[in-house]
Amino acid sequence: MQGVIGARSKTIVSNTSTDRLIADYGSWEAVAKAPLEEFTEILSIQTFPELSAQRLKDCLTAIVEKRGAVDLRHLSNLPTEEAMDWLETLPGIARKISAQIMNTSTFDRPVMVIEGHHRRIMQRMGLVPPKADTLRAYNALMPVLPEEWSAADMDEHHLLLKKLGQSHCRPSRTDCAACPVRPDCETGRAKASAGPAAG
Ligand code: SF4
Repeated sequence: MQGVIGARSKTIVSNTSTDRLIADYGSWEAVAKAPLEEFTEILSIQTFPELSAQRLKDCLTAIVEKRGAVDLRHLSNLPTEEAMDWLETLPGIARKISAQIMNTSTFDRPVMVIEGHHRRIMQRMGLVPPKADTLRAYNALMPVLPEEWSAADMDEHHLLLKKLGQSHCRPSRTDCAACPVRPDCETGRAKASAGPAAG
């Protein structure tokens, strides 16, 4: 549930919120039944508490309607793509969150989680089309990733790209000259051929 409420908030903040919700209500089913205003207060540390609360309530309610409880164990019997498609029928869940659920939970499936930094770097490197959204980037990248990569490898790759996006390949400024992946990057190579002034 951390992914559902976590848009624009740091993971640690969303983890604190989910821990508090479970501590106060005892179960996700109880959270689903609770009045929205009541747990919006608990989510006040999220960047957008009202939006997070509404998304969480909608998502939990939909799971209870489909499954009778907040229980996703049936997904472990499904192939990864089918499991992700099922998750994406829930309100507030698109490819980034379904991938997160598959990759970083007990499902432990090797699935690439693509967020803003990751997508931007892949676009600049020329590995996905320049305007690719998360789903398009996911569809372009998954087939070319090494088959032997585990869920932990996918997660490490994601964290390393996030770091690169916060250091060298920022949204509004790139430091291609010092970037460790420049030899493999279309944008970086183009800047190198254009000369030192291009960065
Ligand atoms: S070389 Fe430049 S554009 Fe390419 S990933 Fe590095 S910082 Fe980004």
